[in-house]
Amino acid sequence: MRRNSDSERLFEPSTGPTGLEEADHRLLMRLIFACTGLTLGVFSVLQFLAGNPWLSGIEVIACGLLLWASQRLARVQRLVPWILAYLLPTFCFILYIIVMPNASATAFVWVYLMPVMAYLLLGKVHGFLLAVPFMAVATGLYLHVNQVRVDATGLIDIGNGIFCGLLVIAFMHVYESRRADAYKQLRHLALTDALTGVASRESFQRALQRCIQEAARYDTRLVLVVLDVDHFKCVNDQWGHDAGDKALQHLCKCLRHRLRATDLIGRLGGEEFGILLPFTDRFDAQPLVEALRQEVARIPMDYLGQRIHLSATFGLAEWPSDGLDAAELYRCTDRRLYRGKAEGRNRLVCSDPA
Ligand code: GH3
Ligand code: MG
Ligand code: MG
Repeated sequence: MRRNSDSERLFEPSTGPTGLEEADHRLLMRLIFACTGLTLGVFSVLQFLAGNPWLSGIEVIACGLLLWASQRLARVQRLVPWILAYLLPTFCFILYIIVMPNASATAFVWVYLMPVMAYLLLGKVHGFLLAVPFMAVATGLYLHVNQVRVDATGLIDIGNGIFCGLLVIAFMHVYESRRADAYKQLRHLALTDALTGVASRESFQRALQRCIQEAARYDTRLVLVVLDVDHFKCVNDQWGHDAGDKALQHLCKCLRHRLRATDLIGRLGGEEFGILLPFTDRFDAQPLVEALRQEVARIPMDYLGQRIHLSATFGLAEWPSDGLDAAELYRCTDRRLYRGKAEGRNRLVCSDPA
């Protein structure tokens, strides 16, 4: 469904190559930063008491930085640099506590957090690429600093550690793949009208708001068109509801066929559709929409061997001359659309009577 993917690409905020999506991500990052900061705060006291003042000092600084960053994360634009700035030092620190003199025998358990954090924060591919090399190095360092016995018990010890790590990676991989697919599906359903495949009413409204903001920023114009199928009730009454559904699909196919990749079609409700033409003024839009109207009227729909003729009435409004916000533009297109209906239907109305 080309139009829908266009609408997703053009009008939705991009989420980047990361695992969770923007809002979840930000919250999760802030939580992770705050929790890690507080954990390091506690460990700095313990390290100090254990006679490691240098390590304790580093942990105090890291704790302060993390708590500050968890506040900053509420406002920053790009999250990925912050995620890497967190994960790389954290993973290096985990490697260090494995090899440092008098290292705790259980320091190795933190390695299992590597795939969890990397997958959640960076997604399947980047999470894998970051976590696996670090885990391999951690395993090598652990084997290097600990004298592992080469007997059955020693091999079981190593096997426990390695297989547990591999299982965590596998679980995270499957979980993140399924979560990303489910999110993509949900997002598609929310953005798309199920019957016609064009943008849903909500995503069309959001796109219009966004285009108005962009037009204001770049000092350009945009055109909103609202169209309503003529005598659609008759199509349902005469041919049945299924034919009516097919007629709406046929109409959207005609519209898509003619429009540019940057234009957006949305189903506003029933047999009423919106067309958004960004970076376009009324003079460029008028011949385009007139051609659409003629195409809809010219090409009949084939339904079970029968030819069903459709037509639609179009109301067109330009930002900012016909309205400064979405509500004003809709009022204008509706007024013109209903005048078109009153004047005999199957027409495009672009202006009000003098
Ligand atoms: P007008 O030219 O004045 O617009 O006349 P109309 O018959 O198109 O207008 P009206 O609003 O009376 O009828 C709209 C019809 O569209 C009524 C409703 O049953 C039908 N409709 C709305 N949504 C769908 C749908 O998803 N599928 C089908 N088959 N029919 C639908
Ligand atoms: Mg109608
Ligand atoms: Mg209607």
